[in-house]
Amino acid sequence: MKLAVINDNRLAVVEGESAFDVSEEIPWNPQDVQGSLVQLMTSFETYKPVLEKAVNKVAGVPVEQVKLRAPVPKPSKIWAAPVNYLDHQSEMNAKFNNAPFTIEKLKLFLKAPSSIIGPSDKIILPFKDRRHDHEAELAFVVGREAKNVPMEEAHRYIFGYFGCLDITMRGEEERSWRKSFDTFTPIGPWIVTADEVGDPHNLQMDLWVNDELRQSANTRQMIFNCYKCLEVASQAMTLYPGDVITTGTPAGVGPIKKGDRIRLRIERIGEFMVEVDDQQ
Ligand code: MN
Repeated sequence: MKLAVINDNRLAVVEGESAFDVSEEIPWNPQDVQGSLVQLMTSFETYKPVLEKAVNKVAGVPVEQVKLRAPVPKPSKIWAAPVNYLDHQSEMNAKFNNAPFTIEKLKLFLKAPSSIIGPSDKIILPFKDRRHDHEAELAFVVGREAKNVPMEEAHRYIFGYFGCLDITMRGEEERSWRKSFDTFTPIGPWIVTADEVGDPHNLQMDLWVNDELRQSANTRQMIFNCYKCLEVASQAMTLYPGDVITTGTPAGVGPIKKGDRIRLRIERIGEFMVEVDDQQ
């Protein structure tokens, strides 16, 4: 099932090219999307059949006529994987004189949840004289409280998947600083539930800037797969329902500038495009 947040923070099920507003069918408070989402995820066995029936009851509208919003707007934390594709690891280590950038050594890092924007919002670059890069990533939302979960069990804790752009300012500052500016985490276009995604480690992922293909990889090339990322994160601290983990980017990261349009497409997930602007 594809679950989108649309228009005035309403919940929609997306099927084919249509969005079905199901906000009246289950408890859903547009003033508290994150809380409503957590409630939905933690009782999904109850609500799933209700939502499936609702699609046949309410009128659908074309997806292109709705405003898509961030499907997970306020997680308590965003864990992110650095150098989690071998080709990107080679790219980074060549650039930095073979400094030992490996995920085994670095583990995960935190991004500010306030950096999240929706899949049709704008990235605002904070500085005109600094380089900012795109990073195409597969992300997921945690559906159940998780602490010390082994990777073999991790799939039971992942509610669903979506695309993520981990926008990054290059430079010497701390990684979490350079990646946590407002608007630096566009996510979307919606949550695809884990059962509908199937194997998350066999998804083609492509990113274009304007019409130029910049990144193209398959999620099977991750070093720490989604389940290992959840294991590692949950060893450090308790993951709560609604928390987000984004799983790192393949080779091909490159600079973005005002006026660029960044399009991310992930197989079985969907695609979205955001524009880049700068501070006026
Ligand atoms: Mn990244």
